[in-house]
Amino acid sequence: MCRVTAPGTRDRPAADACPGITRPFAAADGAIVRVRPGGRPVPVAALQGLLEIVAGQEDPTLQLTSRAALQLRGLPDPVPADVRDAITATGLVPSPAHELVRNVLASPLSGLDGAGRCDVRPLVRDLDAAICADPALAALPGRFLLVVDDGRGDVVRESFDVGLLALDAGRAALLVGSPDRGFVVDLEDAAAEMVGVARQFLAARAALAPAAWHVREVLEHLDPPRLDVTLPPAPPRPVGPVAGHAVVGVPLGLLTRRHVDTLSRLTDEVVVTPWRSLVVPGGAAALDPLEDAGLVVAPGSRWLRLHACTGAPGCARTAVDTRRIARALAPALPPGTLPVHVSGCERRCGAPASGFVDVLAPTSVTEAIAAASDPTPPSPDPSEDR
Ligand code: SF4
Repeated sequence: MCRVTAPGTRDRPAADACPGITRPFAAADGAIVRVRPGGRPVPVAALQGLLEIVAGQEDPTLQLTSRAALQLRGLPDPVPADVRDAITATGLVPSPAHELVRNVLASPLSGLDGAGRCDVRPLVRDLDAAICADPALAALPGRFLLVVDDGRGDVVRESFDVGLLALDAGRAALLVGSPDRGFVVDLEDAAAEMVGVARQFLAARAALAPAAWHVREVLEHLDPPRLDVTLPPAPPRPVGPVAGHAVVGVPLGLLTRRHVDTLSRLTDEVVVTPWRSLVVPGGAAALDPLEDAGLVVAPGSRWLRLHACTGAPGCARTAVDTRRIARALAPALPPGTLPVHVSGCERRCGAPASGFVDVLAPTSVTEAIAAASDPTPPSPDPSEDR
């Protein structure tokens, strides 16, 4: 059989390196494991369980990733069985075989604030269950992304492989690798239809491009119909009270024991967003304790502009402790509108996808402040948070 290599896949291994329990990533400070909520709310007890696992570390935090996953680092390498068991015991790994592929982003406030065209939470539960029920889907690449947007336009612009955009309370546009390719489905059939496209991708990948990670790499083979859908304007990302709930920013995307202990007194579960924040159901009445715990409750906070890569000691590519410098930089951050990203080297991991102020390998906080005052953005080369 003739095999063709899709554009961009020629020198790429078939397997991606996205980490999980079954495939930790070895970093300078130990193993990295990513836990995927599958687009569903996360019990606060599960966050407490994950924090117990990293409790003895110098920086015992959980990192929120740009795909709304939770990342633990500094674990023993190889990861011991009792650590794997403790992660599984949180309930966040419903199917070990599918733990790398439950990459689902859903509108975080859907069903809570009345702003979408429908409540997608039941659909997301069905989608996650359908993925976990199909052994074949465990072969999806770890970078394959499914998004479910309730019509407000907040996640449909993510770089999805299969997207769903609610059109009204009963119908949705199922988008195949691109916002202008796909078809309209009934919402009650949407989970099954999305899983069907994922299966078609796997078949096309096997036949044409074994190293493909994304639908767009085999789009011409799948040949979904043209679809004329107008994406809603991207809404602002809320921080603070929303319809009786709270959206709280997590400084540098690092969730601490103090944060989670406070959350445990307010709610049983939270929704992790892809934007370094959490939705706290019913939390609007508790902004003060949330702020006291170090979470961000107002849109003007400097923390919302500040980003940092992992840096030293976790990353061997630098001697710069980027997180320490970023924490010291926060109270002195010069005014501005662009995000500020502190990187330990020119890779600039985790940098915002759009323009940002580049604080590259600062050797001191003073140097970081000076660089943060320079509004000249670099050409970003972001990668997922590692
Ligand atoms: S930007 Fe450089 S120093 Fe920072 S995490 Fe990436 S590779 Fe490491």
